[in-house]
Amino acid sequence: MLLRPLEMAQEMVRGAVESGETVVDATLGNGNDALFLAKLVGEQGKVLGFDVQQEAVDASCSKLAEAGFSGDAFQFNCVGHELLGEFTEGPLAAVMFNLGYLPRADKAVITTAETTLPALEQALSLLRVKGVLTVMCYPGHEGGGAEAEAVLQWASHLARDEARVMRYGMLNAPNCPPFLVAVEKVK
Ligand code: SAH
Repeated sequence: MLLRPLEMAQEMVRGAVESGETVVDATLGNGNDALFLAKLVGEQGKVLGFDVQQEAVDASCSKLAEAGFSGDAFQFNCVGHELLGEFTEGPLAAVMFNLGYLPRADKAVITTAETTLPALEQALSLLRVKGVLTVMCYPGHEGGGAEAEAVLQWASHLARDEARVMRYGMLNAPNCPPFLVAVEKVK
């Protein structure tokens, strides 16, 4: 069975993360990845989360609380992910980005290369060896194409002895379908 790009991102992260580790959801949105990450690292681990919209932070907090996680297991910040380095010294086992806009919210609030690229740089430098960084790119909306292109440029120029970089997405779909860029830190 072929996985969707978002499912593939989760499988890659699942394979990299151990219980008790620290991980990051860089774009909380509705909190799905944050909940997935919390289940992986458990109460002994920590999920750091970022979103610039308070409603996304609140929705994600509620989602984890409803799933039974205590406040010790996660820390969600209404702050841009470009400030990641001010919130943790690492090491991080995984960092997940889900770019674009939050469905059913203000479509004017989108991630942009200007802040996404510095955040990716910080995420990669804070990852532990064999840690995984996943980036869901959405080239289909206005502004999304330029951002997706910038992510591809950044990722494809990472030194091969430092990072393994993969790209995964549907080929025979119309309208610039989403795709995944995944990076595994080698050293
Ligand atoms: N496109 C995805 C959902 C992406 S949600 C889908 O269709 O399922 C992306 C989230 O990133 C939004 O909640 C938005 O508020 C948030 N965001 C925008 N700029 C950000 C930034 N600089 N730092 C952190 N989050 C940001």
